[in-house]
Amino acid sequence: MRRISIFGATGSIGQSTIDLIRREKELYDIVALTGGANIAQLAADAIELKAQLAVTAYGDKLPELRAALAGTGIEVAAGAIALAEAANRPADWVMSAIVGAAGLKPGLVALEQGATLALANKESLVTAGPLLMQTAKKHQARILPVDSEHSAVFQALNGEDIKTVKRVILTASGGAFRDWPLEQLAEATAAQAMKHPNWSMGARITIDSASMFNKALEVIEAKEFFDLRSDQIEVLVHPESLVHAFVGFCDGALMAHVGAPDMRHAIGYALNWPHRRPLPVEMLDLASQGQLNFQSPNLQKYPALRLARVVMEQGGLSGTVFNAAKERALDYFIAGQIGFCDMSSVVETVLDDLCATTDLIDVDVTLDNVQHIDLIAREAIDALVVHGDLKLVIRG
Ligand code: NAD
Ligand code: MG
Repeated sequence: MRRISIFGATGSIGQSTIDLIRREKELYDIVALTGGANIAQLAADAIELKAQLAVTAYGDKLPELRAALAGTGIEVAAGAIALAEAANRPADWVMSAIVGAAGLKPGLVALEQGATLALANKESLVTAGPLLMQTAKKHQARILPVDSEHSAVFQALNGEDIKTVKRVILTASGGAFRDWPLEQLAEATAAQAMKHPNWSMGARITIDSASMFNKALEVIEAKEFFDLRSDQIEVLVHPESLVHAFVGFCDGALMAHVGAPDMRHAIGYALNWPHRRPLPVEMLDLASQGQLNFQSPNLQKYPALRLARVVMEQGGLSGTVFNAAKERALDYFIAGQIGFCDMSSVVETVLDDLCATTDLIDVDVTLDNVQHIDLIAREAIDALVVHGDLKLVIRG
């Protein structure tokens, strides 16, 4: 039996992972399931899958979790330390599907104990790519991509020599505001941004798709995961979301990965790797689809894509600054405190300011340094949004 843990089990990716596991329960031994505030879901899944341990990220939710699992024999725990301890429980395959930089530490611990890490949590790679990749190497652990574009690239690279790769093209749906003119975007609300045309996902990544911050994170994720240069990674808007990525080779060939927009494909590929097994996903009928469209992204409409280039060229911990600033700006947008276009403006201001202080970002990519810079970037966004003055916090 394969020992499996799922971090972020109650979220969109976590639930799709459980959907696959539930169909073949006899193959898996569930070590740990983790979630946040949705205790009813976490407890129900822990009972159904006979998990050894259930962990909520929130200390104040522990009594509720304990009550929900009383008499089941399932261990319970809460908080960030408990999450790291859960990641330290021996497992063969660990799904990293917490949203945000909070997923980094459990992912690192899972790699340290040698587990294969199925990585949906792209923020880990953006905030600390070299640390994650080096940890995997040091402990002879494997990271398998779960983000659909990166799974697509990974699949297109099967049997190929990475040295023959010229470029990688990630596709983007264009999100909820694909057909909105630039002038209207400033008025866009979080509720509007949450209406994704093709994918059903968690709230935060859905809004990030509308701003293309998600694609910006993914470009950096691709650089870190496949060890590419910034100029080798392109983005194409593809409204149908059927081609997930292309890999272009030195002989001019483009290998595309085509499939229904259903995350169970990429999750299932990572679960069954290195084999392919049947998955409960739609088999595409391309004749009825008729056509596939591709356009270059409008960088004025999606400034996040331009910022991703800045981050990749600056290197160091600028990815940490970018991710943390983006996460915090998104909090303020969801709370209705800043507008949709303000997100990229405040992130750019903080990125410019913090990265100009090179001794801040030109440091080793250790967990301590990443967590320190992450906090500074969040505080810088707070200072900018709440006080309108970045210098207040940065310069003390
Ligand atoms: P979601 O919001 O639906 O679920 C997030 C999960 O993380 C939940 O279980 C939640 O309880 C938990 N969580 C939230 N904050 C936490 C914290 N501080 N500490 C510990 N746990 C916390 O998100 P999602 O859409 O499933 O996305 C999960 C990750 O996968 C993200 O990194 C996202 O970018 C990535 N991803 C998602 C999709 C998708 O289709 N949903 C596709 C590609 C990549
Ligand atoms: Mg993606």
